[in-house]
Amino acid sequence: MKYVIVTGGVMSGLGKGITAASMGRILKNKGYDVTAIKIDPYINIDAGTMSPFQHGEVFVLKDGGEVDLDLGNYERFLDIELTREHNITTGKVYQAVINKERRGDYLGKTVQIIPHVTNEIKERLRNVAKQSGARICLIEVGGTVGDIESMPFLEAVRQLHNEEDVDDVVFIHVTLVPMDAQGEQKTKPTQHSVKELRELGLHPDLIVTRCIKPVLPGTKEKIALFCDVPAKAVISAHDAEDIYLVPQQLENEGAADYLLTKLGLNSKDDNKEWARMVEKMRATTGSVDVAVVGKYTDLEDSYLSIRESLKHAGIEVGCKVNAYWLDAEDFENEPESISQLAKYDGILVPGGFGVRGTEGKISAIKYARETDKPYLGLCLGMQTAVIEFARNVLGYKDANSSELASTDHPVIDLLPEQEDVVDMGATMRLGDYFAELTPGSLANKLYGSDAIIERHRHRYEVNPEYIDEMEKAGMKFTGRNKNRMEIAEIPGHSFFFSSQFHPEFKSRPNRPSPPFLGFVRAMFEKNK
Ligand code: GLN
Repeated sequence: MKYVIVTGGVMSGLGKGITAASMGRILKNKGYDVTAIKIDPYINIDAGTMSPFQHGEVFVLKDGGEVDLDLGNYERFLDIELTREHNITTGKVYQAVINKERRGDYLGKTVQIIPHVTNEIKERLRNVAKQSGARICLIEVGGTVGDIESMPFLEAVRQLHNEEDVDDVVFIHVTLVPMDAQGEQKTKPTQHSVKELRELGLHPDLIVTRCIKPVLPGTKEKIALFCDVPAKAVISAHDAEDIYLVPQQLENEGAADYLLTKLGLNSKDDNKEWARMVEKMRATTGSVDVAVVGKYTDLEDSYLSIRESLKHAGIEVGCKVNAYWLDAEDFENEPESISQLAKYDGILVPGGFGVRGTEGKISAIKYARETDKPYLGLCLGMQTAVIEFARNVLGYKDANSSELASTDHPVIDLLPEQEDVVDMGATMRLGDYFAELTPGSLANKLYGSDAIIERHRHRYEVNPEYIDEMEKAGMKFTGRNKNRMEIAEIPGHSFFFSSQFHPEFKSRPNRPSPPFLGFVRAMFEKNK
């Protein structure tokens, strides 16, 4: 097994995740199976209980793991499916160590960070890497070198390096090269950060410098000299127009060849799939504007996978998709403002929890249904579409979800087997579940298949008692998992598709999610 370990210096938010994912991609392009592990040094067990305001989107894996959004980047860049074990947090490690201590596994010894915690970390890294079946395992250590939280992880990877063969572990350090008022590129932050790394016993093999402009040869030489690496091991990762351009940028800088040499591997292939996708992305003409009516609109990262999925669909259709993030509450405070939606080519209501903004979302869906605007509803976006239909077509004015209000017409409700679960983090229907699609339906056409598997993250569902009535009135449930409704669509509308699942988690740059593709295509066609 080969390990490529990515650390970050100077400050957070440098795009370490994208850099690491891009490194993985260029190694994959050379013919190697690559997997990825994200280490998050926080004490939470997983991201499931974290607010999207604080930490961006909670990404959901096929096994139901609720994880950091970087895992989404890894899945998209490497075109793989990961499991919850690929996200290691301090919480998970300490929980395991403490459980072992209580069971008496440490035979009366004093349990310490070194060796017990570091052993636990190494064991996890090795097991996950091995089980993935990949040749190369990327390990991204979250946080910035020097943080208290990440110390045990850095110590663990130091030991790993020591225990494995010399060419089996390489270190990449991602730093910042700021520019002063005169435009001079400054190397001191990188020097300091590498010094800090070396104090911990780690020596970078490759230094990736983030900069707003291409890092100049002179700057690279200076970094090389002070940080004890050859100049060709200093890679410029300057700001790119789009994150999907980063792999080629790193490749052009020689990163792939250098890494392969360090790992003692030969280039086995020259996979052009990614390059073809990039070409297609660059060739797009025209654009569509979509209104995303949601709640966490201040922080675009809270809908990261949706943004990416829209982009993927745009690449395939051949147009740019501009997403505008509208706060649903604005439509509640100023009901007339709903007419603003006229200027968009389509409306998307994403997933969410809690009552805030739901009435605004329902107004937006009513607008989409009545004016024949393409509509895509995801999870809560399907539930609110069902509520809107029950209120304004069936005439149940108080129809609602029992999550949001107590009502005589709970068209969205808890299904019996879930009613008594109360534990935080254990209550949801999470991850992959199948759905059977109605032949001839929009769903069936979009997927080109009779059965699908998509990822879920919800508690509430369509109340089966209302299904017959809704279907007679024109809302069809064309995706089902036994008595669970997975898809609601309205035939005859230009495009009205909503799902209980989250298709955005399985979309890939070169393989857009079918509902997103249909949605973008419908907007583009209508716009022409
Ligand atoms: N809050 C809703 C539920 O729990 C929808 C969840 C979601 O949109 N992810 O069922």
